[in-house]
Amino acid sequence: MPRMKGRPTGGQVGAAVLVALASYSLAQALPSGGLSAAGTQRSTTGRIVPTPSPGSGLPTVGPGITLAQSGRIIPPGRPAVHVPILMYHYIRVNPEPHDRLGFNLSVTPADFSAQMNWLAGHGFQPIDMRDLRDYLLGKRPLPAKPVVITLDDGYRDLYTTAYPILKEHRFKAVAYIVTGFVDGPGTVTRQQVIEMDANRIEIGSHSVSHPDLTKLAPEELRRQLQDSKVGLEAMLKHPVLDFCYPAGVVNPTVLQATQVAGYETATTTAAGTQHSASDRFLWARVRVGGGESLEQFAASLGPEEPSELEAVSGQPRVLEPTPAVPQQANRRLTLSRRAPTQVALQGTLSP
Ligand SMILES: [Zn+2]
Repeated sequence: MPRMKGRPTGGQVGAAVLVALASYSLAQALPSGGLSAAGTQRSTTGRIVPTPSPGSGLPTVGPGITLAQSGRIIPPGRPAVHVPILMYHYIRVNPEPHDRLGFNLSVTPADFSAQMNWLAGHGFQPIDMRDLRDYLLGKRPLPAKPVVITLDDGYRDLYTTAYPILKEHRFKAVAYIVTGFVDGPGTVTRQQVIEMDANRIEIGSHSVSHPDLTKLAPEELRRQLQDSKVGLEAMLKHPVLDFCYPAGVVNPTVLQATQVAGYETATTTAAGTQHSASDRFLWARVRVGGGESLEQFAASLGPEEPSELEAVSGQPRVLEPTPAVPQQANRRLTLSRRAPTQVALQGTLSP
């Protein structure tokens, strides 16, 4: 990997340093309003009650909105919030009991179902990356007890097993898709991705072929980030703004390239539940590895972000609808902040 002047390689940059530099540099580059609204065009209201997906044919109420109706929200304005971002891979009974890697990436359908039941029963309200971005922009509140359910890689059981369970609860979730794997053996099909996107599963990018991005030449790095984004956008007909680093591997070069490619957030495999706008290219997650008890699962969710009663004189808070932003406009916004971001990154990395 060619080294940029004054820039340490990934191996020299510890996770803590990365977080610190990213927080600093992104805060400098994007003090406010840096997030584009393009990915939120389908979120048409500021109300915390989830809106039904058009054409989903599902009822407009369900287990996922129980707490919303009780009127508790996390009001806008907090610079950082505790929101567990759960990380799943396979939802299956691991076919190879001696395959430790496969085992650690597999949550059984029964456990996944029990975990979703537990979340619903305890008033958790799944949101997606658009909701978290909008919150940190000050645009809308979050529901009380928010949680993000992410599923990586786009294995076939995302559609055959996880999706029906999520749908039963009317839960939102985020599926990070490796575009080069779509329609492959054991992975989701293009039609399945399109269907899930229309039914509360936000589709994020997970690169073209799941390489270690820190080991790529600049042009290949750009291709992995850009082509997967463009491919998903062509498939789904709307912007795709959320990325997940393959295997969670990231260094300053990859982080910057992810911003330049036009993404608005990126998740890692680092552990943590607190997120802010300034560290949104390094959002940590909570690994659900499979085999944990419900008590362990519950404990892994971290501290609960305090909520407040929403209703004021009987009127629910309703924010203005987020206007749909054409993709070109989004690109312009992205390009316009390229220069200051680079300056900030270089400045931060100087010893
Ligand atoms: Zn992955």
